[in-house]
Amino acid sequence: MSQIVTRFAPSPTGHLHIGGARTAIFNWLLAKNAGGKFFLRIEDTDRARSSQEMTDAILDSLSWLGISWDGEPIYQSERSELYNQCVEKLLETGHAYWCSCTPEEVDAMREKARAEGKKPKYDGSCREKGLGPGENHVVRFKGPETGKTVFKDMVKGMVAVEHAELDDMVIRRPDGSATYNLAVVVDDSDMGVTRIVRGEDHLSNTPRQILIYEALGLTPPEFGHVPLIHGPDKKKLSKRHGARSVTEYRDDGLLPEALFNYLVRLGWSLGDQEIFSRDELVASFTTDNLSSSAAAFDPDKLSWLSAHYIKEADPAHLAKLLPAYLEPLGFSGVAQDKLAAIVPLYQPRAKSLVEMAESARFFLVADADLEYDAKAVKKILTDEAAVHLAKLKELFSGVEPFTVAGLEEAAKQYLDENELKFKAIAQPLRVAVSGSTVSPGIFETLEVLGRDSVLGRMSRALDQAS
Ligand code: GLU
Repeated sequence: MSQIVTRFAPSPTGHLHIGGARTAIFNWLLAKNAGGKFFLRIEDTDRARSSQEMTDAILDSLSWLGISWDGEPIYQSERSELYNQCVEKLLETGHAYWCSCTPEEVDAMREKARAEGKKPKYDGSCREKGLGPGENHVVRFKGPETGKTVFKDMVKGMVAVEHAELDDMVIRRPDGSATYNLAVVVDDSDMGVTRIVRGEDHLSNTPRQILIYEALGLTPPEFGHVPLIHGPDKKKLSKRHGARSVTEYRDDGLLPEALFNYLVRLGWSLGDQEIFSRDELVASFTTDNLSSSAAAFDPDKLSWLSAHYIKEADPAHLAKLLPAYLEPLGFSGVAQDKLAAIVPLYQPRAKSLVEMAESARFFLVADADLEYDAKAVKKILTDEAAVHLAKLKELFSGVEPFTVAGLEEAAKQYLDENELKFKAIAQPLRVAVSGSTVSPGIFETLEVLGRDSVLGRMSRALDQAS
C-alpha cells in the first residue's frame, strides 16, 4: 500500500478554534497511525483577512497541542503560478471557459431560477461562446451537465451528487487569483495527499473537487467528512456554549493533553474508553470509528478531563508551567522547588492551572502582606481559638523536623492533653496561615510554608483576633 499522506489546511483569518483543532488532530492521528506524513497548508489567499500573526498563532496552538508537521508549511499565497498553469490546462483541454457575465447578471440568473422553482445557479450562458481573457472576465469550470459523481466517504459512506445540481464554478477570479476549490485540488495533488478528514461544511465542495481532479487527469484522495461540533442545545457551536479558541483554553490553564483527549472523543470512539494516552491514540486511531452523528460540546466533561490530567501530571512539570499563570497575579521569579512543593497539594482537586495559581497565592505572598478575610476572622478566630493558637505556636516553634509527621504528632499531643477534637484547631490554624477557610490539608500546608512563615502568620492572626 502506498504511503498515507494527510494534511491540515487552516485559513489564517482567526485563531484556531476547537473544530479546526479537532480536524488537525484527526488528520495527524491518521498519518501517525499509518506511519505516514502529515502536512500543513496555510490557506491565505484571502490577503485582506489573513495575517502572519494569525498564522503564527495557529502554528503555536498546534505545537502546544503536541502536533508536529512534516516539512515546512505550504503557503497558498506563494503558489499562484501553479494554480494558473492548471487553469490554463483546463482551458486548453476544454474543461474550462472564459465568462464575461457580471456578478449582477449571475445574481439575476439565480433569482430567475429560484422564481421558477429550480436550483439557483449560473445558467451557462458563456459555456459555448468561445470567449478569451478580457476585463473582468472569470474562468469557469465546465462541469458535466448529466450524470452524477459518486464517492465513498470515510465517515458518511456512499455519497452521490447529480451534476445537474452543480454550478459551473468560477476557478479564476477577474484579478487572476484562483478560487478555493481549484487551489485545494492543485495543492492536495501536488502535496501527494491521499486522505482528507475535514468538517461536514466542506461536503458540498467535494464533488466539485473530484470533477476537477478528473478533468486534470488526477486521482482524488479519499475524503471523510465529520459532523460539526454542536452545542449542548444541538445548535451550531459558539462562544455562548463556552467554546473557546485553543489559545484561550491554554490561557484558562488547561493542559494540552486534556484538550487533545477531549477533542478526539468528540466524534471518535473506541468502546466506551474516555481516557487515552497519546501512544494509545496513535496505535488505535482509524477512520472506521469516526462517528457520523454530531457530537455535542460538553464543558463539564472537558473540565473533568482537565482535572484528571492535572492529577496525573508530574509535579515538576506543572511547576514549570505554573509561573505563566502566576505572573498575571503579580508573582514572578518564584523558586521552582517552592512551586514543586506546592503543586502536589493542589493536584488532587484543581481543574485548571489558573485555579491552582489563584488558590496558591497565600503560599507566595510575604507574611506581612497576607490578607485576612474579615468574615473568616470573625467567625473562626474566637477567643477560644486564640488560646489554642497561642499554645500551638509555642509547640510548633520546637517541632523538629518541621514536617507533616512532626506537626501532626505535636498537634495530637495537644489535643489529647486538653481533650479536644481536631475540629477545635483545624480551622483556626487554616485561617491563621492562609487568611481564609480554604486550603489544602492543614499539616501539608504548614510544612510547605515552613516554620518561619507559620510562626509569623500565627502571630499576625493572634493580633487580628485580639
Ligand atoms: N481552509 C479550509 C478551512 O479552513 C479547509 C479546506 C479543506 O480542508 O479542504 O475551512
